[in-house]
Amino acid sequence: HAKEHDQIFIRYTEAMKKRTQSRVELENDMRKALERDEFFLEYQPQFSLLTGKMVGMEALVRWNHPKRGLLPPNDFIPLAEDSGLIVPLGEWVLKTACEHNRKWQLDGYEPVCVSVNLSMRQFRQYNLADKVDAILREVGLDAKYLELEVTESMTFDIDTALNQLQSLKRLGVHISIDDFGTGYSSLNYLKSLPIDRLKIDRSFVKEVMLDGNDAAIVSTITTMAHHLKLKVTAEGVESEEQLEFLKGQNCHEGQGYLFSKPVPARVLESQFLSRLAG
Ligand code: C2E
Ligand code: CA
Ligand code: CA
Ligand code: CA
Repeated sequence: HAKEHDQIFIRYTEAMKKRTQSRVELENDMRKALERDEFFLEYQPQFSLLTGKMVGMEALVRWNHPKRGLLPPNDFIPLAEDSGLIVPLGEWVLKTACEHNRKWQLDGYEPVCVSVNLSMRQFRQYNLADKVDAILREVGLDAKYLELEVTESMTFDIDTALNQLQSLKRLGVHISIDDFGTGYSSLNYLKSLPIDRLKIDRSFVKEVMLDGNDAAIVSTITTMAHHLKLKVTAEGVESEEQLEFLKGQNCHEGQGYLFSKPVPARVLESQFLSRLAG
């Protein structure tokens, strides 16, 4: 028995070692990936549920890994968070998204807002607002065309969050709460923080037609957003039925596979951006 147990233990530790090796490997790869231009952005368009018009887009990072192929963010963002590499990566995402958006405006497309996800590490930087300001100036993008997405967990230390968000708001950027309803934070921050938008997490939207509780939650978040004079976006809209339900709740905006999956920049440009009239 003891021997069998030892063997299981050895196999177990070997598997652990492999996993750690692959983590370390991926982390080293990520250090080089920024220099080698292996990251790129896709954009998911966001639509007004009232008019059906495209009103904005969310920038989502992807990694074209030389050996492993195309990696989704869930495969490397957590690792980038742990290692701290999320800070330079996040700055690259911010700058690239602003550059794209500015270029589209110069090319004569109707101006829309681009949303960029912030990580906890970035949010904790004392000079984040200065960095955002520097990028906006360098790129020449008006701050009102940038929205920063933070999660509820980042509002946990309310005083620090208030400071950071006020500095960002002074630049003129918009702030949204991503994955709203999934965090452990209290609702207290909603009345004290300068936020513009709630993004209803897709887990609630997913079952809205099947689960009365999810429908109640979506309806309640939307009503609360209206009362607090916040905009509200439903994430993960996949069906016409969900869309009709959301319209019935007066939800302002939606994002999801029903409208479009995230697409490369040139596809967003050719299929979703509209030329200014005249
Ligand atoms: P998120 O911010 O909640 O982004 C939305 C995710 O939902 C995207 O996954 C998008 O492809 C997916 N999605 C959109 N519509 C639908 C739908 O109708 N159905 C379903 N099933 N999924 C939908 P993606 O691109 O894999 O990103 C996953 C997460 O990775 C993001 O979740 C975000 O938390 C993180 N992430 C992505 N890009 C960045 C970045 O540049 N910086 C940081 N810090 N995090 C990022
Ligand atoms: Ca997001
Ligand atoms: Ca989200
Ligand atoms: Ca998420």
